[in-house]
Amino acid sequence: MTVVPAIVSASPEAPLERGTVTRREVGPRDVRIAIAWAGICHSDIHTVRGEWGEQRYPLTVGHEIAGTVVEVGAQVTAFAVGDRAGVGCLVDSCRTCSNCLAGEEQHCENGAIGTYGAVDRDGTVTQGGYSTEIVVTDDFVLRIPESLPFDRVAPLLCAGITTYSPLRHWKAGPGVRVGVVGLGGLGHMAVKLAVAMGAHVTVLSQTLSKRDDGLAMGAHEYFATSDPETFPTLARSLDLIINTVSAPLDLEQYFGLLALNGTFVSVGAPPEPMPVQVFSLFTNRRSFAGSSIGGIRETQEMLDFCAEHGVVPDVEIVGADEVNEAWARVLASDVRYRFVIDVDTLRS
Ligand code: NAP
Ligand code: ZN
Ligand code: ZN
Repeated sequence: MTVVPAIVSASPEAPLERGTVTRREVGPRDVRIAIAWAGICHSDIHTVRGEWGEQRYPLTVGHEIAGTVVEVGAQVTAFAVGDRAGVGCLVDSCRTCSNCLAGEEQHCENGAIGTYGAVDRDGTVTQGGYSTEIVVTDDFVLRIPESLPFDRVAPLLCAGITTYSPLRHWKAGPGVRVGVVGLGGLGHMAVKLAVAMGAHVTVLSQTLSKRDDGLAMGAHEYFATSDPETFPTLARSLDLIINTVSAPLDLEQYFGLLALNGTFVSVGAPPEPMPVQVFSLFTNRRSFAGSSIGGIRETQEMLDFCAEHGVVPDVEIVGADEVNEAWARVLASDVRYRFVIDVDTLRS
């Protein structure tokens, strides 16, 4: 086993601190990755704070990982030392259930293994990407196209796939009017991806303070949800809404924005329940759905799509000792638009 530097949470309330995690030896199908960049997802904060259920501490989070392969097992053929490699929210699944066979490992019927806080096959608790190295089975390692800038690619591994998957499933494209609620990490990727797919994109943010940024990302329209005129103005005008907000919303207001057969998809994951009045779904035969990350095959497709269309996250790079401050800024909706940890700062 190898002990490597990491950023560690000792409890739900404790500030993040430097510490270590242990990585297993490289098995025949394993890839050891020296992590260069690690994105900060709001899910890291929900998890550590215990908002999604109890955790086992100490815990190292992070599931947006970009790095370089430094060792491969004897049976690994898809990766070689020196390759760029990515790891997202999953590090393993049963691979034999119907959902795994369909490439939807996130819905593994026997329980997919998350990149952090999950019990791994060997009984240890998985530890995430705020660390200098990770060892992952080759089937769950992604290829990072060379044309994508290395320091900005990590957020695609969660924020990218989590928005790409529902945009694809609900067929965002020319003639489809897509609304994106919340312009944070996931929201800004939803905008860029939906624009690249050819959809007409409307941002719904709390205020107009990020309007210029949203339009620069390619959004066609931008509205403030704090403006009482917004909801009547946009009534029945959207075909697909991707909700990326980390807090509960008044769903009725948003359902009212859906046109005939429109769908409201929540990827935002607040712990609190949100009441639904079914009558507001009867009108226009509306649907209310959720979506969880994406499978490995679709994640690779998303990376290749981003390379082909020049879709790149907007990031702010932080050092290992600035992560507490970055988390506070995420919680204050003050993120432009994804924090990425320069993992080299954890090596010194
Ligand atoms: P983020 O960067 O913090 O973005 C969330 C955005 O929501 C904020 O930037 C803000 O946008 C808006 N917002 C925050 N608080 C709000 C409030 N009280 N009322 C209205 N709007 C508010 O977070 P993220 O990393 O993108 O993640 C967003 C959510 O998706 C989190 O709950 C996360 O856990 C979840 N998530 C789910 C999946 C999945 O598989 N389904 C995967 C990854 C993340 P404005 O300032 O523009 O209003
Ligand atoms: Zn995430
Ligand atoms: Zn399975």
